[in-house]
Amino acid sequence: MGTAAEVPSHLNDEKDKRFLENQFNVVASELISVNRSLPDYRNPQCKAKKFSGLPKVSIIIVFHNEAWTTLLRTLHSVVNRSPNDLLEEIIMIDDLSDRSYLTKPLDAYIKRFPIPVHLVHLPERSGLIRARLTGSAMAKAPVLLFLDAHVEVTEGWLEPLLDRVKEDRKIVVAPIIDVISDDNFEYVTASDTTWGGFNWHLNFRWYTVPERELRRRGGDKSSPIQTPTIAGGLFAMDKQFFYDLGSYDEGMQVWGGENLEISFRAWMCGGSLEIHPCSRVGHVFRKQTPYTFPGGTAKVIHHNAARTAEVWMDNYKEFFYKMVPSARRVDAGDMTARHQLRTQLECKSFKWYLETVYPEAPLPAHYKSLGFVMIESEKKCMDTHGRKKGELAGMSGCHGQGGNQAWTYTAKGEVRSDDLCLSVGSTLGLSGAVRLDKCGVAGPSQKHVFTYDKETGQLIHSKGGRCISGIGDRLEMRTCDTGDDSQRWNLEGFREEGYP
Ligand code: UDP
Ligand code: MN
Repeated sequence: MGTAAEVPSHLNDEKDKRFLENQFNVVASELISVNRSLPDYRNPQCKAKKFSGLPKVSIIIVFHNEAWTTLLRTLHSVVNRSPNDLLEEIIMIDDLSDRSYLTKPLDAYIKRFPIPVHLVHLPERSGLIRARLTGSAMAKAPVLLFLDAHVEVTEGWLEPLLDRVKEDRKIVVAPIIDVISDDNFEYVTASDTTWGGFNWHLNFRWYTVPERELRRRGGDKSSPIQTPTIAGGLFAMDKQFFYDLGSYDEGMQVWGGENLEISFRAWMCGGSLEIHPCSRVGHVFRKQTPYTFPGGTAKVIHHNAARTAEVWMDNYKEFFYKMVPSARRVDAGDMTARHQLRTQLECKSFKWYLETVYPEAPLPAHYKSLGFVMIESEKKCMDTHGRKKGELAGMSGCHGQGGNQAWTYTAKGEVRSDDLCLSVGSTLGLSGAVRLDKCGVAGPSQKHVFTYDKETGQLIHSKGGRCISGIGDRLEMRTCDTGDDSQRWNLEGFREEGYP
């Protein structure tokens, strides 16, 4: 029933040693049946829903060196908890694993299932993006559903997803992704009011669904939430729409970035993304990737992210490059076909996406500067020092490399770096201190709003009228004084009329 496995003490050494095989506790996984039961976590409205006339689905699972037990538990849970007449097939793509149990033993094991399970062993390491394309090319059903190889689906998970695709073939829909503990394999439910966003690094991030979207959805907790992005591992989509929309970017390697790429593309080119609260699938989240990245981890991830930024983000790609300057130097490869796709599909702009779909994004749709915030006389720059909310904002020598010195002055008056805003106020400790605070999602609160005077260089707090001063390695609020050089700020690329 989804409870934790307790590893007996005599297996402790083995547990630690084998954690590295898959970056989860594979010994705990082996202590649990590959055919385990799970509680039904759906709310009453979800349980009451009735579905009919649903389309069939091809389930596509790609894997590289997956553990035996997690892979089989994925298959058993799908077969056990899906109406089998809706399952056209399960397509498994082995992305050149080198573990022998994933060859003949797996070929033999999958024959026991009452529905067709196809298993293809790829002759070369293709990465998850191209492996999924191999799978989707084989699919016979009108709906594609991608799953990771270490998930467990729960009762009633499939029908709500298929129902949305049937309702509108341009809806791409994901389940709520619950947490299977990487430590003890306990099944832990996730919040049903979380959606997908992203930050300046172009990392996918979970955030709380804003009031705006909850109001749009109305009071019914069993209706889907529209989300700016999907996590990417688990989602259903009409097969023809998948291809009409340009499937995946084959220029992307190994892992990473494809989820934001398909998210931006879906919204900008006429589709939409949803999370269905009546569909819950558990996933083993891990803190590190267990497998190799041929070509180097950072290089591959930057390559994929740069392709997304270049093709889909218009000038807003500069937020990514300011935060991750090394990404400018990776070769993103030929993107002609993807640019053509965007033109052919007559997709909307990234500005439209930010204004309409994701106004709460850490990337402001409207801003007046992007880059350093410098005291010219000392060549010192505002620096987050990688600190977190509630901590003091700092200063350091300008290095011109963005990253912790990358800031934007937004049209709403925030001085922000990613999702952190400079903040002033007695509630945050010393009244003169300038701290980092999570920016407001429905617009800035007063403590985050500053007026910039280009002539004097002053950043004047909207409430109280004091000025930000750079003193040594810290920021402080002081009485405004045009003669004080520590209050004379230069904002990179500042334009009074704003961007874009
Ligand atoms: N995967 C793959 N080839 C690769 C990298 C990943 O087939 O080169 C598979 C992996 O085995 C998993 C899925 O792609 O089934 C998603 O990867 P992962 O679970 O590591 O991503 P995460 O869930 O951590 O984002
Ligand atoms: Mn995964």
